[in-house]
Amino acid sequence: MWGQLTGYSPEVLCASDLDNQVCELLTETLLVAAAEWGNYGPTEYWVMGIDEEAAIDLIGANCDRRAAAGQQSRSYCMTHNTADSEHNMISYQALGAEAVAVGRPSGSAGRNGQRDWNIHFFATSIPYAFAGMFDLPYADEQKTVFHEYFHAVQHAHIQTRDFDERRSMMGPTWFVEGGAEFMAQTASQRMRDSGALRASDWNPLTERMTWPMEEVKEWMSSNPGASASQIPYGPDQGIAYSYGLWAHAWLADRFGPDALLGSYYPRLSDLGFEGAFQNAYDMSTTEFLAEFDQFLLLPIQEQLEILPG
Ligand SMILES: [Zn+2]
Repeated sequence: MWGQLTGYSPEVLCASDLDNQVCELLTETLLVAAAEWGNYGPTEYWVMGIDEEAAIDLIGANCDRRAAAGQQSRSYCMTHNTADSEHNMISYQALGAEAVAVGRPSGSAGRNGQRDWNIHFFATSIPYAFAGMFDLPYADEQKTVFHEYFHAVQHAHIQTRDFDERRSMMGPTWFVEGGAEFMAQTASQRMRDSGALRASDWNPLTERMTWPMEEVKEWMSSNPGASASQIPYGPDQGIAYSYGLWAHAWLADRFGPDALLGSYYPRLSDLGFEGAFQNAYDMSTTEFLAEFDQFLLLPIQEQLEILPG
């Protein structure tokens, strides 16, 4: 049943041109995230490499499943996932191949449904760090997998199948993405510190939190009178992520680190975004944003003091 914990592990499906190590590291990360936040599934995590033929084989494996489950016809699934468009499976392979061709790591991953299929469906471009490319630390990729998996946790707490209702229950971009990013940054760090995740060298959490705060401060000074809480998905979405990351840091400091998963999400399906927010945080989003905007004016050293450490 949707939203219930699942009794078996998430599935990671990797293209045949990827080293075994990529799949191992990704699986390890996903298992640790599921152990930390609850195992919401069934979860399928499809990992593209850079070879196009291998990607098409993997898409075929996905489409066999979709057809067998009566979710899509095989031919629709193949056409959809191999077309030149965004967020389909081949787009993730193309992104990795392009990045390798130009020597610049640009990747993407996403939870692309599917409530109607009763699964969490993820696809990702080649996880560069796990593949030993571009000198990136495992930690960076672990954070990305945690971020994506947190979207499964969020979606698991919304029952309705209606697309628009689901979107409104997810809340504004700053809340959804900031929540995933804050939880991913802090939990993956904790799991590395405890030895549950493989260690690697990465900038400390305080530095990783300082960059987005600087970004928010710069954005505020070049957009006087505007609030990053209003920025939706789209070309400027990055600022909503950074703003939301800190908004969740503030909420976790004020109301305790368990308020989000222990109070907010369990009531979301009943109360909706605003109602669940007020229930968990004892204030309206309007009151919160006003107070948080004051916090944004503080010097960075004072801001960093609220981080878990
Ligand atoms: Zn996200």
